[in-house]
Amino acid sequence: MDAKMQTFLEKVKVMADKTSKAAGRAADAAGKKATELASATRINLQIFDLNTECEVLFKEIGRMVYELHRGTEVSNEEMDQKIDLVDEKQARIAALREELAGMKSVVTCPHCGRPCSREDAFCSGCGGAL
Ligand SMILES: [Zn+2]
Repeated sequence: MDAKMQTFLEKVKVMADKTSKAAGRAADAAGKKATELASATRINLQIFDLNTECEVLFKEIGRMVYELHRGTEVSNEEMDQKIDLVDEKQARIAALREELAGMKSVVTCPHCGRPCSREDAFCSGCGGAL
């Protein structure tokens, strides 16, 4: 093999190495984004569930307040318990929202709240502009 050919082949090898490394990095980044989006979706579902649980508690607390005003005996302890539960759930919602905000590749749709990829122009849930 002549020297020119040798050098050429060396260059090709170096290029191929660089390309495959770059491809690997791109795949890693894409994988990380997909994982972030999946966990963002999971977190959003948790927030939805917690909000639903809070709505139920608010309704129960409201009924107790009503009964209190009607002169019916109401357990203060039970009322306090429910209020504490709401506080607890609200704190968890706040923590989950913070976790969402810390995800670099994820944006929350301003129209429907669905987590979307930062690269998307439109929401995959409602079609609104991101
Ligand atoms: Zn949306």
